[in-house]
Amino acid sequence: MTFPPLREELRGIQPYGAPQLDVPVQLNVNENPYPPPADCVADIAAAVAEAATTLNRYPDREFTALREALAGYLSGDSTHPVAAEQVWAANGSNEVMLQLLQAFGGPGRCALSFAPTYSMYPEYARDAMTEWVVGRREEDFSLDAAAARELVLAHRPAVVLLPSPNNPTGTALPPEEVSMLCEAAGDGVVVVDEAYGEFRRPGVPSALDLLPRHRNLVVSRTMSKAFALAGARLGYLAAAPEICDAIRVVRLPYHLSAVTQATALAALRHAPALLARVADLRAERDATVDWLRAQGLVVADSDANFALFGTFADRRAVWQGLLDRGVLIRETGPDGWLRVSIGTPAEMNAFKDALVDVMKEQAA
Ligand SMILES: *Cc1c(COP(=O)(O)O)cnc(C)c1O
Repeated sequence: MTFPPLREELRGIQPYGAPQLDVPVQLNVNENPYPPPADCVADIAAAVAEAATTLNRYPDREFTALREALAGYLSGDSTHPVAAEQVWAANGSNEVMLQLLQAFGGPGRCALSFAPTYSMYPEYARDAMTEWVVGRREEDFSLDAAAARELVLAHRPAVVLLPSPNNPTGTALPPEEVSMLCEAAGDGVVVVDEAYGEFRRPGVPSALDLLPRHRNLVVSRTMSKAFALAGARLGYLAAAPEICDAIRVVRLPYHLSAVTQATALAALRHAPALLARVADLRAERDATVDWLRAQGLVVADSDANFALFGTFADRRAVWQGLLDRGVLIRETGPDGWLRVSIGTPAEMNAFKDALVDVMKEQAA
């Protein structure tokens, strides 16, 4: 053993995270570019001040009021009501999904997803000592339904992770495919990660609609993206009550601080105002996709607040060229592609100007 006594399989591994660079236009981590509105900020501040008067006590371990508020919000985005006992929350949906792996993964079990997909998934599996199995998506980033089913039947995963809309491609999964995979998974759980669910295009349903049909379905959501609350760290899921009960076994005591609960509850009271911004971002997304295509680029259809575009012989040079012009985007996805988060109209204009400039330079 060497010092520090890091697990063998963690030696030499770099911690996950996009570069946090202080540049004028930051379009690299799919944040909401609009800060919470002033009345929401005031409400959060008052709620936190109230919570501060009892910070000598541990918070409500069951975060009952927050679960009720989240259930109410989800019921409005679903064809069927969602009950408070179907809701679980943690410090970001990353923690929610790690808890799922801690509860349902482990030695001798596997977790499965389809690449290109969210790069944190294999890390949860590794940290929960769970084997990682990865299938492929098609050229257009959709799933080959028959092949996906075969892979699930062959590996019998304890957890299937399906981001929809997918990161980094923006692709939403049809509900028939989610249902089919829930059936194929048997007693394994199927997690549909809807971190970007609120940005889906009209007519694209949420997997929440399927909850009454599949007891092994988990729909994960977050307040980090549509709710403009990435700094508060609040993620949550909807699933059968047995699944929420199982997670309780692995959660740390009082994992959701009183400050976090108060913040999230106050923000949820402003859901309509916060979600009004989502409509603006969706329109900006569609306009960005059209504009990129008009430049002769290939762009994946997006139901999220970002667009994956390409392809570039040297994507690193394009990424660097944009950065040199004060615009930070993300070098991610299959080779040759880049991902841009949707910002304000001013930020998107800066991105477009910089990209035109870089492409001109590259062509010369
Ligand atoms: C951003 C993102 C999340 C949300 O993470 P939080 O921990 O809730 O901030 C979850 N899943 C995917 C695929 C994401 O891109």
